[in-house]
Amino acid sequence: MSSKESNPYENAMKQLESTARLIKLDPDVHEMLRNPKRILSVSLPVKMDDGHVKNFQGYRVQYNDARGPFKGGIRYHPKVTLDEVKALATWMTWKCSVVDIPYGGAKGGVICDPKNMSNSEKERVTRRYTAMIADFIGPYRDVPAPDVYTDSQTMAWILDTYSQIKGYQVPECVTGKPIALGGSEGRNNSTARGCIICAREAAKQLKVPLKGATAAIQGYGNAGSWSAVFLQELGVKVVAVSDSQGAIYSKNGLDSAKTLKHKEEKGSVVGLGGSEQIEPEKLLELDVDILVPAALENSITADNARNVKAKIISEAANGPTTPEADSILERNKVLVVPDILANAGGVTVSYLEWVQNLNRQHWTEEQVNAQLEQKMVSAFKACYETSKKYSVPMRSGALALSIKRVADAIKLLGIWP
Ligand code: NAD
Repeated sequence: MSSKESNPYENAMKQLESTARLIKLDPDVHEMLRNPKRILSVSLPVKMDDGHVKNFQGYRVQYNDARGPFKGGIRYHPKVTLDEVKALATWMTWKCSVVDIPYGGAKGGVICDPKNMSNSEKERVTRRYTAMIADFIGPYRDVPAPDVYTDSQTMAWILDTYSQIKGYQVPECVTGKPIALGGSEGRNNSTARGCIICAREAAKQLKVPLKGATAAIQGYGNAGSWSAVFLQELGVKVVAVSDSQGAIYSKNGLDSAKTLKHKEEKGSVVGLGGSEQIEPEKLLELDVDILVPAALENSITADNARNVKAKIISEAANGPTTPEADSILERNKVLVVPDILANAGGVTVSYLEWVQNLNRQHWTEEQVNAQLEQKMVSAFKACYETSKKYSVPMRSGALALSIKRVADAIKLLGIWP
């Protein structure tokens, strides 16, 4: 969503401004959306394994909760900044709104280097962070989830700390938990499932038959490797994939299971039997029907966008396309399903996890997937129709739809006190 040098929160506010013009947003509502509702900045003294105390800086930004409790992941990274967390909290608000789940948007971050911390150091950071924000989170206030370098174990520590403070077990205070603690079936592949549902719906709109269609996937982690599975299920031939070590190609298609096994055994997709190695940049420019960026932000830029030959891009990653690249892709009639829609499957199943917890239920994977399918298809349709109504690309359509929903809720609530 942002070019490398720019301030992510300024970018989020620029998106808000252009959408405000498009949908003729009430200036008072626009004024209220210029700042997050609440910013928590917490200092976390933690005893390290060698006995000395280190102070970590943490944030929780609650951008808007007009449509429901705040919702958003917690990121552990040395490069976390407050502006990044503010931007991510803003985008979470639009993402929850776009798939029409009753949540607002938030994000958390702790400046730390988890790659150089022991498990017990990570646990102590997590528990101290939770204790510091405990008064402001909870199942009806703000529901955290995993993000970069946090996982289901991190959520288990948050759940335990929060529950110890309350004096009773509160599984619904976080999502992305282990299944043994009330996590949902289907959560582990929900982002990719949602992303490929979007690719499928986009292909329908463009009348691209999926049987025999081709795809390339950048990134072969959680989102990328599951995207390969779901594309293959639809009869699409995944001809190229990549990871941080390099990219591979096979015109006959790469079997998703064999590719994953190779990556797990060798640490990379590179070297898979029957494939040839290609330059990673070339993957984005292959003559395929569907391109799934599932790695980092800013991979499709002004430098390579004009060489993209795919008809459909479904953004599993957050912010893989720069605004300059977006304009070029629009001119070249590439249908880009934007990240706030294409990767919203994860937060949608997080919502389903919360609903199960609140009702003390545990649904089957089929029940979860059926609801995810329904939510993604109707969100895709609503975004596509909004983009046609305003004659804008789907990214602008998705923003228009989601910001209008948030604005309507804000107006109905009014201001008190
Ligand atoms: P992950 O860590 O499991 O996988 C990332 C993959 O990208 C790895 O295979 C890594 O080797 C690869 N990669 C890194 N640098 C690369 C490069 N330069 N070229 C090609 N590949 C490269 O992460 P993930 O959970 O799959 O997330 C991927 C993207 O999807 C991120 O942008 C993330 O924010 C977004 N996303 C994920 C989820 C989710 O539920 N997993 C939800 C929403 C958004």
